[in-house]
Amino acid sequence: MASFTLHGIPVSRGIAIGRAHLLAPAALDVKHYLVAQEQIEAEVQRLQNAIAAVHKELQTLWNELPKDAPTELGAFIDVHALILSDPLIAEAPLDIIRSRHYNAEWALLTQIDELSAQFDEIEDPYLRERKADIQQVAERVLKVLLGTEQLLPKAAAEDELMAQMIVVAHDISPADMLQFRDRSFIGFITDVGGQNSHTAIVARSLDIPAAVGMSQASMLIEQDDWLIIDGDAGVVIANPSALVLEQYRERQVAMQRARKKLGKLKKTPAVTKCGTPITLLANIELPDDCAFALESGASGVGLFRSEFLFMGRAHKIPTEDEQFEAYRNTVQSMKGRVVTIRTLDIGADKPLDQSDHTALNPALGLRAIRYCLAEPQLFLTQLRAILRASAFGKVRILIPMLAHAFEIDQSLAMIAQAKASLREEGVKFDDAVEVGAMIEIPAAALALPMFVKRMDFLSIGTNDLIQYTLAIDRVDYEVAHLYNPLHPAVLQLISMTIAAGHKAGIDVAVCGEMAGDVKLTRLLLGMGLREFSMHPAQLLAVKQEILNSDLGLIAPQMRKIMRSMEPNVIAEAVHQLQLM
Ligand code: PEP
Ligand code: MG
Repeated sequence: MASFTLHGIPVSRGIAIGRAHLLAPAALDVKHYLVAQEQIEAEVQRLQNAIAAVHKELQTLWNELPKDAPTELGAFIDVHALILSDPLIAEAPLDIIRSRHYNAEWALLTQIDELSAQFDEIEDPYLRERKADIQQVAERVLKVLLGTEQLLPKAAAEDELMAQMIVVAHDISPADMLQFRDRSFIGFITDVGGQNSHTAIVARSLDIPAAVGMSQASMLIEQDDWLIIDGDAGVVIANPSALVLEQYRERQVAMQRARKKLGKLKKTPAVTKCGTPITLLANIELPDDCAFALESGASGVGLFRSEFLFMGRAHKIPTEDEQFEAYRNTVQSMKGRVVTIRTLDIGADKPLDQSDHTALNPALGLRAIRYCLAEPQLFLTQLRAILRASAFGKVRILIPMLAHAFEIDQSLAMIAQAKASLREEGVKFDDAVEVGAMIEIPAAALALPMFVKRMDFLSIGTNDLIQYTLAIDRVDYEVAHLYNPLHPAVLQLISMTIAAGHKAGIDVAVCGEMAGDVKLTRLLLGMGLREFSMHPAQLLAVKQEILNSDLGLIAPQMRKIMRSMEPNVIAEAVHQLQLM
């Protein structure tokens, strides 16, 4: 097999060496897992039942054809019924379940992919088109299968086969990513996506190497190809030579050693060389992430992206009690440390459900607080759940995407209303719970007095702040090269926010991806940042950088950076900061 190299955008650190597992686009809603030996026959039965259900469905369709329906319609239904009865569809996937232990959906898709590939070779255009019929039939069966409740097996460790797999897909949504978090896939490669797309963020939260924006990766890479992902460089090498493989294995070992060394810093306080204490907090997506946060020595949670509790549930919003359990769990897991719960930031690349892609410009649409204020009942339910959890530890509420004073006022009024209802019911909560604003829209960074007057703390969401300042969609890989945290406009907005917060005597954090980038640690320290919130995987490396930083040395270089409007001057000065 020929070796080739692909270049994309690095989103998650480290090196992964494994075999390609391709996800077909139709398979994105489908869970891939191995079935335990004793469940094989039940899984076979599940697929047979689904096929039988589709037969029945087609029969009903045929029986209920309107009298004036075109005759081809009946013929199409006949063709689909014939396809469904063909052993290639009705039996081959059953053999795949038995021989490879794939779950029913995966087995069906594997067979369909193989058939599709064979159809692509056919010369006759009419016959080649029949591929679409087969796919439509498969879709029907998949729909029936997906309609049934499915559970991913909990323990991934026993899935020896999975332990080596690198997922290759055109795209993977954040919700799909969540499916993989309990699994032992060792890397991700996608054709699309940017450095700070939510998919990339979740990849980082899984703490495994990933590369996105790889253009044609899912077309060029074949199932079971050997792959190396260099997550730091955003490079993928397919079918590497023995020599290259050996070099990467050596690098992998060296990196693991360096990581182990960092582990020793877990209990070391985060203080600069010159004695300034810095707060290092963790970004989490689900309560389970607390274990990793604590393991990394985080002094609390600076951003709990609560929307992940809501996603991929086919519009079944978690109830107040379900949410309360999740928040209380988090608060208790963090053992007295602060937990900053961001209210629902749904919309744009985090739709409630996969089918919710209707807005023309979702990133500029009814997202985050805008959505919550338009759905007051949903917002109140979440606020009540958060407040109830505040009786169990130190909770802060963080509101995303604020731009207008009335949005702040309405949010605060809703919090007051949630408190009043709990008080009336005699339910305990922390009346002094702090409420903060995400500064992630340029308008907010340019109107800070409006915020500091009303809020207890600020948290800069640099991911969106960059997106909205530079007018580039953070998920669009075609403009990913324009996504530049060092753009002078971005630096000015961040610096202004930190200064305004300090002047008003309120805490300011950065919780966007910039906070976890060691190349930017000194820059942020130099701007006066004292609170960083990032994915736990980055925390110890950032701490090491802080321990080696001297604010006195950084200051003169900072003046140069903040006065400059020249990208080259800024980039060089930031580089110099790292060498100090
Ligand atoms: C941000 O925008 O920087 C942020 C932290 O929020 P999210 O990435 O979830 O939009
Ligand atoms: Mg944001």
